[in-house]
Amino acid sequence: MCMEYPGNLFVVAAPSGAGKSSLVKALMELDSHVQPSVSHTTRAPRGQEKHGREYFFVSNAEFDAMVQANAFVEWAHVHNHRYGTSKKAIEERMAQGADVILEIDYQGALQIKSIFANAVTIFILPPSWEELRSRLERRGEDTADVIEVRLHNAAVEMAQAHQFDFVIINESFDRAVFDLKSIVHAQRLKYLAQRRARAETFKALHI
Ligand code: 5GP
Repeated sequence: MCMEYPGNLFVVAAPSGAGKSSLVKALMELDSHVQPSVSHTTRAPRGQEKHGREYFFVSNAEFDAMVQANAFVEWAHVHNHRYGTSKKAIEERMAQGADVILEIDYQGALQIKSIFANAVTIFILPPSWEELRSRLERRGEDTADVIEVRLHNAAVEMAQAHQFDFVIINESFDRAVFDLKSIVHAQRLKYLAQRRARAETFKALHI
């Protein structure tokens, strides 16, 4: 797939508890030009989640069929389920000129970067192990055993942060939102992005 779409592609990864979903949500509330990509997953819906909004919830057989049909740009096993970004989810929005943001695990993020060299990859880190543990405990979603597994997985995930373009340390939430906004804004100011977005201006300036 090529990257000749008018929109930009942002990919955010983080260990669970680092605050990735809240940061991406805050960014999208501030900037309606950034849109999410809806992934497919084999896990069951939780709480108020709706098919087609948070995820497309599919069976193992449906997921297999999509893998066979080469419908995914990337997919990965995460916490015993499969998750994937369909080509359709990205292409439709980017072709319309939207900036698309993917909130996926680090394996998927690195796959995306290998396909779309222009994609901007961002890794969110917690400020410390103590803070990560206390955020997972405060969330109250997991048993003590599950928290230990998440912390173990976090070490594996954070060891991949060096492969990302940008790192945000989520210590103060407002500061982290500002950092994320700054990355998005800087990407839009790149020469090629400006030339795409302001084609008339460039033409009038004969450049
Ligand atoms: P959850 O089940 O809690 O919504 O998500 C579990 C993990 O799967 C999170 O780290 C989330 O970012 C990741 N994830 C969600 N969608 C995708 C996807 O399309 N591809 C990949 N590789 N990971 C995903």
